[in-house]
Amino acid sequence: MVRTRYAPSPSGTLHIGGARTALFSFLYARHFDGRFVLRVEDTDQTRQVDGSERAMMRGLASLGIVWDEGPDVGGDFGPYRQSERLAEHREVADRLLADGHAYRCYCTPEELERERAARRAQGLPPRYSGRCRRLNPADWAERQDKAFVVRLKVSASGSTVVDDLIRGPVSFDNQVLDDFVLMKPDYTPVYNFAVVVDDHGMGITHVIRGEEHLSNTPKQILVYEALDWPVPQFAHVPMILAPDRSKLSKRHGATSVEEYLDQGILPEALRNYLLLLGWSSPAGNEIIGLDEAIRLFDLDRVQHTAAIYDTKKLEWMTQQYLKTLPLSRVVEAVKPFAERLGINWGLGPPLDVAVALVRERAYTLRQVAEGIRFLYQPPASYDGQGVRKHFTAPEAPGRLRDLATHLDVLEEWSHDALAALYDQLALAWGVKRAELIHPTRLAVSGKTVGPGLFELVQTVGRDETAKRLRHAAALIESGSVPES
Ligand code: GLU
Repeated sequence: MVRTRYAPSPSGTLHIGGARTALFSFLYARHFDGRFVLRVEDTDQTRQVDGSERAMMRGLASLGIVWDEGPDVGGDFGPYRQSERLAEHREVADRLLADGHAYRCYCTPEELERERAARRAQGLPPRYSGRCRRLNPADWAERQDKAFVVRLKVSASGSTVVDDLIRGPVSFDNQVLDDFVLMKPDYTPVYNFAVVVDDHGMGITHVIRGEEHLSNTPKQILVYEALDWPVPQFAHVPMILAPDRSKLSKRHGATSVEEYLDQGILPEALRNYLLLLGWSSPAGNEIIGLDEAIRLFDLDRVQHTAAIYDTKKLEWMTQQYLKTLPLSRVVEAVKPFAERLGINWGLGPPLDVAVALVRERAYTLRQVAEGIRFLYQPPASYDGQGVRKHFTAPEAPGRLRDLATHLDVLEEWSHDALAALYDQLALAWGVKRAELIHPTRLAVSGKTVGPGLFELVQTVGRDETAKRLRHAAALIESGSVPES
């Protein structure tokens, strides 16, 4: 059975690179009816951030990534927190020491630095000399109180090949690997050792992770071989780069799932977008929901080259989902954003009516909330460009007042009746209909763009519309239109 895992270190929030890796691992497991495991790699205590394990889990869950086994849900292959497996890491290290695949190294940091400097002086790359290899258990016993690390014996000749499912075989010269450290002086494991013991212990068949780990993989393979354990399959997914091809960082904007969701990106859209960062559908389609993603996903369509991150595309994706998701889902998602704007949706048109009116034009949930705000609150300010264009003519305030008077007595408060009235007034006043529509929109919503005007005023209501037209007229006359 396919078993994949996502193994974050709890050192912050869920970065989009991590989320994409988790998504690929999850989809791969689901596609093959396998299991997806969440393991928290919390051995490096210095890098830990409080609450970050929870934040990671929240981030994954918000994207619909569900783990079958993990620190919170348990499972048959636990523990799922790396730190809780320390006894096993130590036991395996002891075993490697006992059977001669590993040895204790007593070299001090100063000695190692001298060695490195000597090699540098000769133009050679750093490489541990293997000086402590010659010590045997009797020598170790003599050095009882001395600090040591455990190193793996790596043959200096030959090479180690990573048969990567995405890139094909990648060969590493053993010369560059040297006798690397497995256990630190406090007898806790380094990442490259712990990860092997954990992946083996959890029966992981496919290790899917970021490309930055590719250079770690030959070391891990050597550990598997020393232990005579089956080597899992590896797949290294490409980096995500900023549009200028530099490493994606804070200066390019949001980088964590939490931040995106906070900006009003729909989680469904973010998941779909992440799916396309490095993978493409065999059918060439881009809007792919979770079930379809599970059905289609395989590693053979993951590209080798870096994926370029593009905010515009993410917003476009959000718009597609805003348009097509069930209205009730969008309404639920908008609520926190509406709340933040102080919108009291109990007083005004039903929220679903409001959301339906604007959702097709918005790129984020935040924009939906901003777009419906005027349905619940009169505009506090008016678009500056709009004011210059539509409120400055000498006849502007008078027209707004006249429009209000006509609206007060319009027989039927319907789209057609409103359209007929505007046609009739435009004709009578000798202006284009647009010359009445734009000032009305600005007076009622404070904006120059938005849903169709007649739908808009219909939703705002007759009295409120008339009131806002008169209020705008008064502001124009007193020369005090607040602009935004
Ligand atoms: N804890 C490692 C990281 O966050 C996991 C690497 C791996 O998947 O093996 O990068």
